[in-house]
Formats: sequence, C-alpha cells, structure tokens
Amino acid sequence: MTEKHYEVIVVGGGITGAALLYELARYTDIKSIALVEKYEGLATLNSRGTANSQTIHCGDIETNYTFEKAQAVKKKADMIVKYGLQHGYNEKFMLQGQKMAMAVGDAEVEALKERFEQFKTLYPYLEFYTKADLKEIEPKIIFDDNGNERTDNVVAMGVKSGIYTTVDYGAMTNSLADNAKKEPNKNVEVYLNSKVEFIEQIGGKFSIRTENKLSLTADAVVVNAGAHSLFLAHKMGYGKDMGTLSMAGSFYLTKEKLLNGKVYMMQSPKLPFAALHGDPDILANGCTRFGPTALPLPKLERYHDNVGSFLECMKTMKLGKDTFKIFFDLLADKDIRNYITRQVLFEVPIINKKLFVLDARKIVPSLKEDQIYYAKGFGGVRPQVLDKKNHVLMLGEASIDTSDGIIFNMTPSPGATSCLGNAYRDTLKVCEFLGKKFDEAKFNAELVE
Ligand SMILES: Cc1cc2nc3c(=O)[nH]c(=O)nc-3n(C[C@H](O)[C@H](O)[C@H](O)COP(=O)(O)OP(=O)(O)OC[C@H]3O[C@@H](n4cnc5c(N)ncnc54)[C@H](O)[C@@H]3O)c2cc1C
Repeated sequence: MTEKHYEVIVVGGGITGAALLYELARYTDIKSIALVEKYEGLATLNSRGTANSQTIHCGDIETNYTFEKAQAVKKKADMIVKYGLQHGYNEKFMLQGQKMAMAVGDAEVEALKERFEQFKTLYPYLEFYTKADLKEIEPKIIFDDNGNERTDNVVAMGVKSGIYTTVDYGAMTNSLADNAKKEPNKNVEVYLNSKVEFIEQIGGKFSIRTENKLSLTADAVVVNAGAHSLFLAHKMGYGKDMGTLSMAGSFYLTKEKLLNGKVYMMQSPKLPFAALHGDPDILANGCTRFGPTALPLPKLERYHDNVGSFLECMKTMKLGKDTFKIFFDLLADKDIRNYITRQVLFEVPIINKKLFVLDARKIVPSLKEDQIYYAKGFGGVRPQVLDKKNHVLMLGEASIDTSDGIIFNMTPSPGATSCLGNAYRDTLKVCEFLGKKFDEAKFNAELVE
C-alpha cells in the first residue's frame, strides 16, 4: 500500500478527536488532516449518547467544582452552545431544560446558600428554590409515595428554562467530523476500523502503523484515544510517571419520567467522584437516568474486546509501589473506603438494585425497586490519571505535550463539555509547531463572543 502523508493526524474518533479535526479544518491554514479511529464508527465508546450523562457541565450545579474550575469550564461549555446554535442543532441534539443542585439536611443547606451567593455572580440566571418552590417545580424530590412531604430540610439552586443543558455527544461527534469534511479546499479524511498500534518518530515526521496495515505519516500527531492515550504514550516512552485508573460508570433507568429536569446532589468534598444525580435521558424518551456509579474496573473500555482491554489496562496502570501508595492513601480514609465499597456493591447482582435505590431515595424519596432497572450497555469508563511522582489520583483531564510534535490527551468528565476548548488549546500548539496560521478572529466570532 502506498504511504499517505498528512500535515496532522488525530488518533481517536471520540468527541475530543472530532472537535480537534473540526477546528484544524475550519480555523487554520492546515490543508491535510486525517482522523484515525479503531472501530466501525465515531463515538462508540465514552462519547456515545448513552455512555455519559449528556450534561453540559458548565459549573453552575456541579457542586464538586471550585469557583475557579467553574470559571474555566464555563468558557468551554459556552463554546458547545455556540457551536450548536451556529449549525442549527438546537432542539435537535442540543436541548434546553430545567436543572438544579439540591441540598438535603441543615449542613448541606447552609453550604448551598453560601455557594449560591458566590456562584450567582458567575451565572446570573441562577435562582434559589425553597422547599415550597420545589413542591411546584420538582415535586418528586419532596413527596414520598403517600404524598407526605419529606421531613428533612431541602433547598436547591438552579434554573427552570432558557438554558441549554443537554447534548447527545455521539450525534455532536458525527456533526463535527461531517462539518470538518465540508470545509472548502481541505483534504480531510476519516479512517474507520483502523486501530493504531504504534507511532514512531522517524526523522522529522511521524509514522503510524495500524492493525489493518494502513501506512500513514504526519508532521504532527494528537492522540485523543481516551483511556488508550496513555497506553500509546507509554509505547513511545512518554508519560512514564503516570498510570491510569479506569473508573467505570453505570446507570439505572426509570420506566417512566420521574424528574422534570436534571437534579444534582451536594458533593462531599472528600469523595473523589461526582455524587449521584438524576437526568432526563434524551435517548430514552425523557425517562430518568440515575447515576453514574464509580467502579474501579481493570479495563480501558467496556462492551468490547474484554481480554485485550484487560491486558492494556494492566500495562497502563503500571502497578508498583507508587500506585499502591496512591490506593493505600485513598483507602485509608474511612469515607472514601465506604464509598468505594458501596460502588462495588452496586454492581453485584441481586443486592445492587436494593442498595442503589437506597442512595437514589436521597433524590426521590418515593423511589421503589420496581421503578428502575440496570441500564445494560449504558455507561463508560473515566480514565483517571495516577500521578506517580506526587502520589495522587488526578481528578480532571491530563495532557502530555512532548513539544516534539505529538500530544496525548486523557479526558475523563467533563471531557465532552470541554472538547472545543481543549481542541482550541491543541490547535494553537499544532499551529505553533508547524508554523501555521490560526484564524483567531473567526474562532472568537463563532465560538467565543
Ligand atoms: C459514566 C460517564 C458519565 C459522563 N458524563 C459526562 C457528562 O455528562 N458531560 C461531559 O461533558 N462528560 C461526561 N463524561 C465524560 C465524557 O464522556 C468523556 O470525557 C468524553 O466522551 C471523552 O471523549 P474522548 O473523545 O476523549 O474519548 P472517547 O469517547 O473514549 O473516544 C476515544 C476514541 O479513541 C478510539 N481509540 C482508542 N484507541 C485507539 C487506537 N489505538 N487507534 C485508533 N483509535 C483508538 C476509541 O475507539 C474511541 O473512539 C462522562 C463519562 C462517563 C464514563
């Protein structure tokens, strides 16, 4: 097969890879770009509409974000909405809705009141809801099945309408790639069924070997292969001081629509992953999806190639004294230990549903076991990065910029919300490396201002 050369190759056809393909094609003078994806379609893993919570995490109701993190994600989240409106995807795969962060019990109520005062400066549309307000706007979170009000103190902050809250990120991924291909005077190609096995830097260019024997070369490469990015980085000798902890997230679906909008819980600052929430699922007729759970899973992906994924995960986790120290420190905390134990039990047949319902009743007090079912085939894996030098579990995204023309990105939540913002960061880096132009004015006009 003849070798094909591109100025840039993006590895991985999830939403991170597709967003980068789009920005490189639309806002730069780079002429030839390829996206290489191992499966038969784009967004078949974590970016699939049923794999994640479909939330635009802009930071207003995510009580696990600090004010600074909220400021940063808001900018990126706004880009999603601007992209959707620009191309007319609103009310198609990008929807408006009601959403709120809810506090239960006196301590949480006090913390939420304080948070509201601070966060309304960043999100002026935020409203504060008393228990009486909530009876009207989200009655299931107040009344039990006998119609009695819950006795605990409950308040919330949120918005009832006028804000885009929800995206089918799988549909958005495909739209980004389609729009990239439509850019005039550009050679934009998408290779499917092409698993990248090895990337080698020879002379001034990168040579990419795929399982189906494609022969591709590029001047610059960005690896957006989700949980597999670090696996590929290790193969090239990069990121050796990092490992991956795969945290699987599963969901339970209700048989009918229970909630009118998204209901998020107050986050315990000690817990490493976002608290359980309830979301109307736009791919399941608005029925409520509760979750996600957070289960450590020795696989880089779910629902495909079990053995291969297990072996790749073990290699990427890089078990050793540094990783064990991180796990030991985490489990030494009683609250985290109890949390992890519960999460593991949520996956054990027979008892899983009983236990899950007990937790979800903090949101909907009347919830019964026969109202929910395990959402088979839903959910995905959050590739959390283990920083072995500093012995910590990193909770956000991580990126290895080698400054040598290749970048590797690991993107746990809120990676889908951040895709256009992360693509902007990498587009600038690629342009600088290749000496190419970035049309900042067009980018700002379309996605920022
Ligand atoms: C349970 C759960 C809930 C979440 N909820 C939200 C949410 O509500 N909002 C939000 O913003 N984010 C959410 N996230 C996070 C979000 O889903 C991810 O951050 C995002 O989808 C990551 O996109 P990605 O393109 O980086 O990775 P992925 O979607 O995993 O895509 C990686 C791609 O790379 C391909 N690939 C892998 N290896 C190779 C190889 N060797 N060669 C070629 N291709 C390869 C894969 O096949 C895949 O298509 C959630 C995640 C989970 C698991």
